[in-house]
Amino acid sequence: MKVPFLTFEPMHNEIRQSLNNAYNNVVDKSWFIRGDECQKFEKEFAKYCGVKYCVGVASGLDSLILILRAMDIGVGDEVIVPSNTYIATALAITYVGAKPVFVEPVIETFNIDVERIEEKITKNTKAIIAVHLYGRTANMDAINTIAKKYNLKVIEDAAQAHGAKYKDKRAGSLGDAAGFSFYPGKNLGALGDAGCVTTNDKELADKVRVLGNYGSDYKYHNIYKGMNSRLDEMQAAFLRVKLPYLDKWNKDRRNTAKKYLEGITNPLIKLPSPSSEEYEHIYHLFVVRSERRDELEKYLNEKGIGTLKHYPIPMHEQECYNDLGIKHGELPIAEEISRTVLSIPMFYGMTDKEIDYVICKINEFM
Ligand SMILES: *Cc1c(COP(=O)(O)O)cnc(C)c1O
Repeated sequence: MKVPFLTFEPMHNEIRQSLNNAYNNVVDKSWFIRGDECQKFEKEFAKYCGVKYCVGVASGLDSLILILRAMDIGVGDEVIVPSNTYIATALAITYVGAKPVFVEPVIETFNIDVERIEEKITKNTKAIIAVHLYGRTANMDAINTIAKKYNLKVIEDAAQAHGAKYKDKRAGSLGDAAGFSFYPGKNLGALGDAGCVTTNDKELADKVRVLGNYGSDYKYHNIYKGMNSRLDEMQAAFLRVKLPYLDKWNKDRRNTAKKYLEGITNPLIKLPSPSSEEYEHIYHLFVVRSERRDELEKYLNEKGIGTLKHYPIPMHEQECYNDLGIKHGELPIAEEISRTVLSIPMFYGMTDKEIDYVICKINEFM
C-alpha cells in the first residue's frame, strides 16, 4: 500500500466543478488583478477570522514584509521570532533591513517559549512575530502581555494556521496584524501563490494595500516606494470556492490526528500535542519526534509512506544566515527539533485504511 505525504485529490474532486466555474467566470469578466473576486474574498476571509480588514497580497512572505514595512520597522530595529519556523518568517525581517532575534521554542508545542522572550528584548526591539507552527497557535495572552509591557507590536505568522483557534478567537485576530499564505499545500491553499494580511487597524490595512500596489494611493500617484504584491482574481476566485469548506476540512484533519494520537503507541516515537479547548489545532502538519528519525524516515518510505522534515536545518545554521554569527549549540532546542522531527501523511480526505496503515507501520518500527 502507498500513502502519499500529501494529495489534493479528495479536496479537489469535491469542488472540481466549482473551481471550473470560478475559472470560467474570471475569464468571462476579463478583469484579473484586484477586482470583484479579490474584494469579496477579502470581506469573506476577514469575517471568517473575526477581524475588520483583510488585504490580499501575492504570498505569505510578502504579507509579513508588508506588515513590517507598514509598521515602519527597518534598519536598526530588532524583531523577536521563534528559532524554529519556516525560514520565510525570518526572511521577512531581513528583507526590511531589521534583525531577527531568535527565541527558543517549547519542544512539546514547537512554539515560542514565552518565558524566554523578555531576556531577548533590547531598546531596539520593535515587534514579536508569533508563529502558529504546524497549525497550533502560540500562547497569545502571554505574548500580548509582554508586548504591552515593552510597547512592542505583535505580528502573527498565520501561514500554517487558517482557522486555528486560541480560546475563542481565530488565528489572524490575535495580534496587531497577521500574515497568511495561501500556498497550495496550506490548509487553505490557492492553485498558485497567494497570501493576505488581516488586522483590525484601518490605517495599517490601507498602508499595506498601497505598499503592495507600488506605493500608489491612486493611479500613477505614488506616496511610498512600494512593491508589486497583489492577490489576483483567479486565485481569489479559487479561494472563495474553498473557504466555505475550510472548517470541514480542518475537522477531518483533527479526526485523523486523533486517530494517530490514539493509535501510535511505539515508545520510540514522541507525539505532538493534542487539540484542546484552549488551542484548537488544525494540524497543517502532524509532526512526530524520534531520536532515530532518519532510520524511521527510510523505513516508512520503504513501506510506501511519504514523509517530510519540517525543517531539517534550523535557520541560524542556514548558509544565508552565516552573517548572524550564531554558532552550533547556541540554540539547542531548535537544533534538536531539526534533528528529530518527521512529518507523517496529513491531508484532507485520508481514508481509514490509509490512517491505519500508517499507524500500524509506525508501531512496527523497531
Ligand atoms: C508557508 C509559510 C510562509 C511563507 O508563505 P509563502 O506563501 O510560501 O511565501 C511563511 N511562514 C510560514 C510559517 C509558512 O509555513
